[in-house]
Amino acid sequence: MTDLVLILGDQLTAGVSSLRGRDPARTVVLMAEVMGEATYVRHHRKKIVLVLAAMRHFAAGLTAAGWRVDFIRLDDRDNTGTLGGELERAVRRHGASAVYLTEPGEWRLKLEADGWAAALGVPVTVVEDDRFLASHADFEAWAEGRKALRMEFFYREMRRRTGLLMEGEAPAGGRWNYDAENRAPPAGGPFLPEQPLRHDPDAVTREVLELVAKRFPEGFGRLDDFRFAVTREQALASLAHFVDAALPGFGDDQDGMLAASPYLHHAVLSPYLNIGLLEPLEVCGAVEAAWRAGKVPLNAAEGFIRQVIGWREYVRGVYWREGPSYVLRNALEARRPLPEFYWTGKTDMACMKAAIGQTLDLAYAHHIQRLMVTGNFALLAGVDPHALHEWYLGVYADAFEWVEAPNTIGMSQYADGGLLGSKPYAASGSYIHRMSDYCGGCAYDVKVRSGPGACPFNRLYWDFIDRHAARFASNPRMAQSVRTLERMGEDRRRELRADAAACLAELGL
Ligand code: FAD
Ligand code: SF4
Repeated sequence: MTDLVLILGDQLTAGVSSLRGRDPARTVVLMAEVMGEATYVRHHRKKIVLVLAAMRHFAAGLTAAGWRVDFIRLDDRDNTGTLGGELERAVRRHGASAVYLTEPGEWRLKLEADGWAAALGVPVTVVEDDRFLASHADFEAWAEGRKALRMEFFYREMRRRTGLLMEGEAPAGGRWNYDAENRAPPAGGPFLPEQPLRHDPDAVTREVLELVAKRFPEGFGRLDDFRFAVTREQALASLAHFVDAALPGFGDDQDGMLAASPYLHHAVLSPYLNIGLLEPLEVCGAVEAAWRAGKVPLNAAEGFIRQVIGWREYVRGVYWREGPSYVLRNALEARRPLPEFYWTGKTDMACMKAAIGQTLDLAYAHHIQRLMVTGNFALLAGVDPHALHEWYLGVYADAFEWVEAPNTIGMSQYADGGLLGSKPYAASGSYIHRMSDYCGGCAYDVKVRSGPGACPFNRLYWDFIDRHAARFASNPRMAQSVRTLERMGEDRRRELRADAAACLAELGL
């Protein structure tokens, strides 16, 4: 009697629920590198290397700990190319009588796994992924009966439950949220930390780098200068480095953008959290300890912890609650194809060029670059949210659908009609000008509102409000913009529409 435990590439946690309680003497662990998973969207090549190298190191750790691991490599000659195919072969090879796995992190695979028991003729047990602080039942219980699922209230509940930054029943410092203090334009200068900690590839990772270069010669993104952590020890070192070097300044420039500094004070820990090398509570515990030791200000610790126990858990709850069709929502009926420059970075808009350029180089852009530059442009230009969703799902090292889709479909594109965010994150060029140093080096003029040479974000902004004026008029957070537009009068509105159309044509869209 052999049990087969399937461990997926984002389940690289020693205590993962599928392994817990299993007897190593009668268990085979299956890990499989398959083309299907590497190609269902156009993944950044560094992301593929990260996942495969981390899988190989994790498998070696399991073997050292006494588990029998059956590891299928991408270049094995008889690799079937799909997880289902590899599972079927492994069940036969090992004469397995039962299969266990921790639930996959996206609907696509979950629905596929639902069919495996019938296809394989053995029972398949899918166990809950308890590497999150809120289970599906916890989120349901919180959401039940609420008119709006606002993150802030979920976050407060998570603070109470975890006790993080709490003084008895009250939030540390007397306030739950210090976001208002985290919106300063970036200062820059010589005080920026060396971030993130760099990990030179070892022999295992170098082998994966060669494999990916060979198998994905035309793939998205640069492969050189790979520096991600691929083991738990390295990820822990990255966490310690972040807490020492960057966390003290995390709050202040959280929303800022600098052309010469792709990371500022950001953690760059999401890839490790999302594949399981780090767990949310240990990361937040380290941040809280630094605050309690007086090493970092409260606005930094609170800002960080809110992202992890608040946003990260909350978007996961929304993703599973809303079902597989969530990624197809398109409340604003946006249909424009994704501009080609999202794949190449070849555009004269300095902000887009910087955000996409560093994405190509590093498989990383921080939150405000994703939300207020690439996301904002797509929103204003009316890009199809599903095409954009597939882009975000591919190009970032931390992209997994449970976390990417609500951020894209909900927060960034308002395509769920306001379920996740109370207003669309639409802004003209002046927001980017205030929060970054991009505009100084741009071919367009951020101070000019219309006509050739004007900032495209300015030219598109009022047309966006105009297109959706009827919907936004009843949104308390958008009504002011609609009233301003109405005061402009019909002639001016016609001009704005014509100028936006000209702008899109000049951009080749
Ligand atoms: P920091 O700014 O240092 O934040 C600390 C941690 O908080 C992150 O590591 C992350 O785990 C968590 N976090 C912060 N913001 C969010 C958020 N909005 N949702 C969930 N967790 C958050 N995050 C992903 O992990 N994967 C994605 O695929 C992803 N896609 C996104 C797509 C769009 C359009 C937008 C607007 C945001 C997306 N985010 C995604 C959220 C956020 O941009 C990243 O988590 C963050 O940039 C990761 O970098 P960091 O570790 O330096 O984060
Ligand atoms: Fe971006 Fe407009 Fe500034 Fe250019 S001028 S960098 S397009 S916001």
